[in-house]
Amino acid sequence: MKTSLAVITALAIVIGSPLVTLAQTPPRYDLLLKGGHVIDPANHIDDVRDVAVFQGKIAAVERDIPADQAGKVVDVSKLLVTPGLIDIHYHVGHGGAPLAWFTPEARAHALPLGIPADMALESGVTTIVDAGTAGAETFLQEKEEVIDRAKVRVLAFLNIVGNGMGGGLEQSLDEMDPKLCAATITKYRDIIVGVKTAHYWTKEPWDAEHVPWAAVDRAIECATLANVPVMYDFWPRPERTYEDLLKKMRPGDIHTHVFAQQFPIILADGKINPALAEARARGVIFDVGHGAGSFWFRNAVPAQKQGFIPDSMSTDLHTGDYNVVSMTIVMSKFLAIGVPLDDIIRRSTVNPAAEIHRPELGTLAVGKDADIAVLELAKGHFSYIDCGVARFDGNAKLTARMTIRAGRILYDPSGLSMVEWEKARPQYFSTPDKGESLPARADDYPRD
Ligand SMILES: [Zn+2]
Repeated sequence: MKTSLAVITALAIVIGSPLVTLAQTPPRYDLLLKGGHVIDPANHIDDVRDVAVFQGKIAAVERDIPADQAGKVVDVSKLLVTPGLIDIHYHVGHGGAPLAWFTPEARAHALPLGIPADMALESGVTTIVDAGTAGAETFLQEKEEVIDRAKVRVLAFLNIVGNGMGGGLEQSLDEMDPKLCAATITKYRDIIVGVKTAHYWTKEPWDAEHVPWAAVDRAIECATLANVPVMYDFWPRPERTYEDLLKKMRPGDIHTHVFAQQFPIILADGKINPALAEARARGVIFDVGHGAGSFWFRNAVPAQKQGFIPDSMSTDLHTGDYNVVSMTIVMSKFLAIGVPLDDIIRRSTVNPAAEIHRPELGTLAVGKDADIAVLELAKGHFSYIDCGVARFDGNAKLTARMTIRAGRILYDPSGLSMVEWEKARPQYFSTPDKGESLPARADDYPRD
């Protein structure tokens, strides 16, 4: 062994040190995902490709990238590789507590609403958009305590209600100030992508202050001032019908919870409400926003059969539903009811990116942030449930195997990117002697 190394070294010196030079050259790529089925609708790719990452960016997407060009190679054959998924309807919080939960000025200790932002990583999601958990008065706290600390990218729709959700003030017109709302969006334009209106006056009798369209009109006023879309959570009543809402919506505005029980999606004759196609033709966007009470198969299945599929998949994750729904479960439901896989990926990547005016997201284009989901498509008997406690029996299920955000491997619970423990380098077997010691890890690839 010693002899042969000496011979090689001597030879290298003789022929101009090519081996020494090779040994000192760092790999061209940090990470190489090899042999996966890439579905990247933004770039019209639906085929086997290798994906290389360098310094947190997508560096190459090609048919065959040699393994020796990367510092870390992960075999993802038989798996799907997609842009990191985008969930545009999420509710962030402090481990379950609402914003201001622990402060003396907390007005109402309502049920906790938001969940940890980084739970999204478990579903291949690399960008979430908080759907109005905070308003102008509570946004800074949400930003400093949650958004700035999350590993997943967090953007937000700002609630037209200054106090946001869960604080007991969602019915107060005094809290709905379009100018304050627009000024806050302008100040935090790098994070806030739109306005949210929700939960307004769904059953009480109308009165002088609470007129039918107050919340919707003020949200539109703020959005017009700030030049952003509105996301609508809405409950139709005789004085403010569903069809009237769709007519009020501006091109680019987003109707979330589209398959909720309160909307007349399917008419008495079994046909889809023509108002949906009319709105879509004007540029109105339809979003799933599944949630604990906003997805019924009785709406989704006939709509899909008649060719109507929501533009974007999303979860409405919060404390009331996080144990029954996730982004991959929402996507699996649409797979079960007959939407093609590549179409579902489109509606979970490039479509939501366009809806929030962030075209740099939801793509594996070279030079963009290396936000990547590695998904597994299992075939078999898988059943799904809706919010009306009814079941749909399907034959496929999507799950996330690995989630990469800006090149960092943040979710890999089955160790796709890890070495089998007995083959780990010596450092793994060391016992650290003090707290500041290097962790006894099998590799140095960034994972947090
Ligand atoms: Zn919601």
